[in-house]
Amino acid sequence: MKTISDFNFNSKKALIRVDFNVPLDENFNVTDTSRIVAAKPTIDKILADGGSVILMSHLGRPKGKEDKYSLKHILKTVSEVLEVEVKFASDCIGEVAETAAKNLQPKEVLLLENLRFYAEEEAGDVDFAKKLASLGDIYVNDAFGTAHRAHASTAIIAQFFPNSKCFGLLMEKEITSLNKVLKDSEKPVTAVLGGSKVSTKITIIENILDKVDHMIIGGGMTFTFIKALGGNVGDSICELDKLDLALEILHKAKEKNVHIHIPVDVVAANAFSNDAETQIVDVRHIPDGWQGLDAGPKSLENFKEVIMNSKTILWNGPLGVFEMENFAHGTITLGEYIADATANGAFSLVGGGDSVSAVKQFGLEDKVSYVSTGGGAMLEMLEGRILPGIAAILD
Ligand code: AMP
Repeated sequence: MKTISDFNFNSKKALIRVDFNVPLDENFNVTDTSRIVAAKPTIDKILADGGSVILMSHLGRPKGKEDKYSLKHILKTVSEVLEVEVKFASDCIGEVAETAAKNLQPKEVLLLENLRFYAEEEAGDVDFAKKLASLGDIYVNDAFGTAHRAHASTAIIAQFFPNSKCFGLLMEKEITSLNKVLKDSEKPVTAVLGGSKVSTKITIIENILDKVDHMIIGGGMTFTFIKALGGNVGDSICELDKLDLALEILHKAKEKNVHIHIPVDVVAANAFSNDAETQIVDVRHIPDGWQGLDAGPKSLENFKEVIMNSKTILWNGPLGVFEMENFAHGTITLGEYIADATANGAFSLVGGGDSVSAVKQFGLEDKVSYVSTGGGAMLEMLEGRILPGIAAILD
């Protein structure tokens, strides 16, 4: 796996695909700089070597050249975060970009205009990729958030740098963290899978059954399993067409000697609302008119034991409807168990969408080993897929 550590960038122009698809408010202020902060170590190393940096990214989903999606809006913030003055090219290819790239001096940084102003970017157009490629000497992919897309700047471009392409430090960290969980993991390995539906998690479940010792299944998925096992789930979310699949998963898990842990009790509510009446009930006997919206106390005690005895933990998906304060307890408590296990020496990776928002919201971000920066990309890696952005560098 070639990374920026394998190159000396002195006097070289590094063409870096970053993910600066940051949120902006109505006055075009960047409201969350995490993605820019995440790319800084890679940029710092290249500048420290005496190289120059050309940054390319997309922002939003423009239809052609739309001013509101111009990367000029984020230029000031990028300069502030990187602590260097960043130049801007008002086009990502053609004369404007070529002149700006040619004039770039060592230790200087140039930001190119939104790649998605050209439909060729998402289409993975080879000629467009070639024009981008002409701007730099070494191609660096550090955009984990778009690594699951075979776009011109994330994958197709790599063919023009057969001996001078590599991963940035963020990409390297994402890949090694996932490998630490699914490949070179210290046992026992536990995966916690929550979220709303079995149907969206089935490929992940099937892929990781071969790699884990314990699997905690929570959130809305619980009820499809409980129903399949003959329980009464009341009005809880339940995929009736996935009951056979749930039984098949349980059967496969048994064959593979994976211990499955499902909630035994839940916080049930008489409406899908934070103001609903609640009661703790046995997960197999949820009365009609009530729905399970969070894991109950006995379930959390069971999960605690599993988590505290694990050496490697993967967490994807909340244990309940954590967006509502009254149903966030299970997700927060699970996060705290994972933080405690991490403090005791376990390796923990939180990845994919809502569990990432949950750990950030509940202040647990610094108490787990690694929080993935790529929602869709991490989910696809958990499904066992080879991401185009990763394959293009490994080729
Ligand atoms: P996912 O995107 O599949 O990871 O699902 C995340 C969503 O699942 C969150 O918005 C949660 O509110 C929701 N969720 C978790 N537990 C439940 C539940 N018991 N009933 C309904 N939705 C749930």
